[in-house]
Amino acid sequence: MPYSQKSFQTREEQFRHLRQENDVLIEQVMRLTEEVKRLTRTESKLYQMQKRLDRQIYSYQSINEFCKKLNQAIALSDVFDAIKEFILYEVNLERCLIFLRDRQEDIFPVQALDGYYDEEASQQFENLKLMKSDLHLETLLSKAEYVICSEQCEETLICHFRDLFGMQEYVLFAIGEDKREPIGLLVAGNTQEMANYQTRVTADGDFLLYLSNLAYQVSTAIKKTLFYEELQKQKEDLKKAILELNLKKTRLEVTLQDLDEARSMANHDSLTGLFNRTYFNAQLPQEFNQAKLGGYPISVVLMDIDFFKSINDNFGHPVGDLVLKKVGEILKQHTETDGIAFRYGGEEFVLVFSGVAPEVAYDRAESIRQCFQDQSFRVNRHDVSTTLSAGIAYGPVGYDRYEKLVSQADEALYRAKSLGRNRIETFVI
Ligand code: GH3
Ligand code: MG
Ligand code: MG
Repeated sequence: MPYSQKSFQTREEQFRHLRQENDVLIEQVMRLTEEVKRLTRTESKLYQMQKRLDRQIYSYQSINEFCKKLNQAIALSDVFDAIKEFILYEVNLERCLIFLRDRQEDIFPVQALDGYYDEEASQQFENLKLMKSDLHLETLLSKAEYVICSEQCEETLICHFRDLFGMQEYVLFAIGEDKREPIGLLVAGNTQEMANYQTRVTADGDFLLYLSNLAYQVSTAIKKTLFYEELQKQKEDLKKAILELNLKKTRLEVTLQDLDEARSMANHDSLTGLFNRTYFNAQLPQEFNQAKLGGYPISVVLMDIDFFKSINDNFGHPVGDLVLKKVGEILKQHTETDGIAFRYGGEEFVLVFSGVAPEVAYDRAESIRQCFQDQSFRVNRHDVSTTLSAGIAYGPVGYDRYEKLVSQADEALYRAKSLGRNRIETFVI
């Protein structure tokens, strides 16, 4: 009941009641004060959480942006530039070093660095090379995903790198899937002077999460770029190899062509274009062999131009040459289908007919003789008439004494000459 509506017997009673009410009020005020305190604490916590969340959102966004840049980078130098920029301006650490493994020598030379503004120092750090074994990196990296050297760090092995990297506090990541066999290392940190103004390298969970995320992205980007560069290199090597192969092929083709030409020149007579005596000697046994294997007859015709000397004497040697050339053409035409013509020497020729009956061989020889008898050669404004004599020898099926057949044809030719020339004689046993 409210105070105003109460009726009290005595003043003491009234006073006691007032005190009681006052106590209740005090208690309520105290409770409220506690509640306000609790709410303020919660609000502060919420504020902290909000700040942390904001930081995380920002870091995810910045990592996201960073990833985009990394993805766009094609050359390794672009990847390095993006990493350096991110470490210095987003992570807000003062210096960074990127080492990549030189596979041939198993060392890690510095490939990129930033934040070393003193020129002398910059040169010194540029030439820095890490040896995995020397620096016990394997031991360090086997412990964790990254090695942290904070301001308070006292581990000798870890502190040892401070001078080497020129950083008082740093974090070191292995690049690559297998941290025991890293393809590279990324180190980011601060010098003593800057440590107080920059982001500190701490073992704080968010910071580490952020860094490990960063390390993962860096690792993936470098691996991707190295792979891409290797692929490009292989492509270039392949292109070069193909070029070299094509060059070799062209050279080989030229050589083969030269060889073909040389072989052809070795087999042919340069004046008439017919096969020469050397080729005849090589080819004749083969022709006989094939005829024997194929079971068909073979005929040899020896031809000699009549009184050729007089052509030379009357018109000159060059005209004689041109006549021989024409003779070559005629012989080629008449042997195109079933025989081969050779220049045997001087103004003597030999024809080989294999696989044709003796009568056919005779007919061929006869038509050639006829051709010479009927036409004169128009050479250098001279009409040169000439005839030829021939001797034929036939080899029956299976006959393989080719030398004998040639000498028999020669014998027949001799008879043709002695019987008055411009005729064909057959060797008869
Ligand atoms: P036969 O009827 O008895 O065969 O008389 P021939 O004059 O044809 O025979 P001979 O053996 O007396 O002369 C052949 C001539 O052929 C001699 C040589 O100068 C000539 N001769 C040989 N080879 C060539 C050549 O490549 N070019 C020219 N122009 N003449 C050649
Ligand atoms: Mg002769
Ligand atoms: Mg002659």
